[in-house]
Amino acid sequence: MKSVLVVGGAGYIGSHMVLCLQQAGIHVVVLDDLSSGHKEAIENCDLVQGDLGDRALLSQLFKQYQFDAVMHFAAFIQVGESVQKPAMYYDNNVVKTLSLLDTMRDHGILNFIFSSTAAVYGEPQYTPIDVEHPKAPVNPYGRSKWMLEQILDDYDAAYGLKSTCLRYFNAAGADAKGRTGECHDPETHLIPLILQTAAGKRESISVFGRDYDTPDGTCLRDYVHVSDLCDAHLLALTHMMKTRKSARYNLGNGQGFSVQQVIEAAANVTGRKIKVVDAERREGDPARLIADATLAEKELGWQPKFADLKTIIEHAWRWEMRGE
Ligand code: UDP
Repeated sequence: MKSVLVVGGAGYIGSHMVLCLQQAGIHVVVLDDLSSGHKEAIENCDLVQGDLGDRALLSQLFKQYQFDAVMHFAAFIQVGESVQKPAMYYDNNVVKTLSLLDTMRDHGILNFIFSSTAAVYGEPQYTPIDVEHPKAPVNPYGRSKWMLEQILDDYDAAYGLKSTCLRYFNAAGADAKGRTGECHDPETHLIPLILQTAAGKRESISVFGRDYDTPDGTCLRDYVHVSDLCDAHLLALTHMMKTRKSARYNLGNGQGFSVQQVIEAAANVTGRKIKVVDAERREGDPARLIADATLAEKELGWQPKFADLKTIIEHAWRWEMRGE
């Protein structure tokens, strides 16, 4: 494999993917509209600023470079916003992604790696969640991802476009060498919010509900290191190109940590006092989301390097405190 187009490569997970591909000696081109990504997040690769729905631009890129595959990270990801603005979510996450897929087909590029999400499962019927768990997303964000997954099945059957959908649980942490990290605006994710509080950039962290059916009453999530996610993408692409088969995998560590446990772990890592405020439940939050990722381990040989929460938080903290 020589060359990969990373759509959304200037974003959080995308920029870690660029590092991972470069480490493997693969030439990377990034397409990003920089609406939420950051130019500074990537180095030593061609960055094309543009819209993934721009077929003329995509055609030009596909003519200019001989891509073996496309990895797609450029989605809108906020659940609450997706409820308020479904049109925006379906347009970006479905319609524009179709432009990308159809332009790929026109140019005979038939390998696609897709960022999917545990949100395709909706309220879990059992945990840990395996890939066969029923798909019943409960918000437009999750539905947009599940729609695309189903479209990808049809595209494989009709056009031979092979895809691997990677359903992330809670992506967290940052590059171990501090080269990139999480930079969302607005930030909505638990770990960066806690660390910003520890760093004095926020007053307090709100705990969304303490009355869940979990040991300490706060929600359980499966936090998985972003660099481990990226390793899984590269393994998945290599595997798919060898087997010529589409696949779906869950990516998580198989262990749930409560919001309260994450706050305590962050207090230990940072040595700072973190002000905690109790708040109402956030709509649409299941009590527990824990991955059964054995399929990725078995078929891809995926083994997370940074499975423990302390390491994930240490790396995120180093990123949070960069330049200080
Ligand atoms: N959470 C919280 N306070 C915050 C942000 C998140 O209590 O300020 C909780 C949220 O309700 C969920 C967990 O932390 O139970 C992880 O939320 P996050 O938004 O990081 O990821 P999600 O699970 O929604 O993908």
